[in-house]
Amino acid sequence: MENFIYDVQASRVIFGLGKIKEVQNELENLGGQKAFIISTQEQEGLALEVNTLIGDLCAGVYTKAIQHVPLDTVEESLKLVKDLNVDSLVPVGGGSSIGLAKAIALQTALPILAIPTTYAGSEMTPIWGMTENGLKKTGKNLVVKPKTVIYDPELTYTLPSRLTVTSGMNAIAHCVEGLYAENANPIISILAEEGIRALSSSLPKILADPSDSNARSNALYGCWLGGTVLGSVGMALHHKLCHVLGGSYNLPHAETHTVILPYALSYNANYAPEAVKLIARAVGCDENDTAGTLFDLAASLGVPTSLEEIGMKESDLDQAAKIATENPYYNPGPVHEKSIRQLLELAYKGIRPQPSFV
Ligand code: NAD
Repeated sequence: MENFIYDVQASRVIFGLGKIKEVQNELENLGGQKAFIISTQEQEGLALEVNTLIGDLCAGVYTKAIQHVPLDTVEESLKLVKDLNVDSLVPVGGGSSIGLAKAIALQTALPILAIPTTYAGSEMTPIWGMTENGLKKTGKNLVVKPKTVIYDPELTYTLPSRLTVTSGMNAIAHCVEGLYAENANPIISILAEEGIRALSSSLPKILADPSDSNARSNALYGCWLGGTVLGSVGMALHHKLCHVLGGSYNLPHAETHTVILPYALSYNANYAPEAVKLIARAVGCDENDTAGTLFDLAASLGVPTSLEEIGMKESDLDQAAKIATENPYYNPGPVHEKSIRQLLELAYKGIRPQPSFV
């Protein structure tokens, strides 16, 4: 076994069907007496439910969180946080609501109690992001990592089937890249393999029977593992490409992850044989066909499998390959503009990936 470093960044996690009812207790445990609830406009109903559950502990509700955390929403909510003398943040929703809470915490150091309703995993990471003049800045700071997380699978019942699958694939991508991370370690690899197993087995069951509470719980458990992996070890080519495609071409977050994952895995497969072995064991497929199997999983669940389907223009592929290779970053396989252009071409057309192509 190689030497390794494992940084524990523990959060308190309350997991289970109906556990949203514990929110008042948990807020009190955190010392919150003037909480600021944050959601998107679409999830206002849920934010108001949380408001009812915490009663007098609520100082205000903000329902204007949107994807990629635009600066004006941060400034507007920071002003409210100050005016209302807020002492804690309670985001309910996906990465967009949790992202806004993190941006506020970055400036105020207020503690976060997160109630995630998608599988993106932001609640388990110290990573923040914010968009100003079309440019997304990201960084890492432990102050933004939620102190308490309530995972209630019942809150995922309303997640549309397309977002259920793509958000789940997003969490699988965290696990896949965690297995070949520069600072991979045996503990995180156990979590990553288990996360892939939990998600790849539960997503088809949820689509077959949306009321399958066991499958819903397993998927949220996999998402927790995926978020933990993302927050603990560095990522590589897959996350870099998704960041470029989302940031520069405004492609939808979870769908971009879904499309790119099989191609990034195929690209890295020859350079990460141990990771490939664990992925194959987790999804129950041949080691030579992990990328193809993940592609088939997405296709069988009816979500987009090509960049063309999610709005990428073929004429932008050259520039995307250039941006994605401008600055060096860790990846198990060598990253060259020409081979990344080739990867993007395959992903654009949605051609089932080969075991490896570099
Ligand atoms: P999202 O939060 O943008 O949600 C997408 C839509 O689905 C929204 O309209 C939301 O209201 C709705 N929704 C969410 N949960 C629902 C539910 N249970 N039922 C019905 N509707 C629901 O999507 P996301 O994929 O969770 O998050 C994407 C964002 O999170 C991106 O900006 C991404 O960069 C960020 N992110 C950050 C990290 C991190 O560690 N900082 C990790 C992953 C993602």
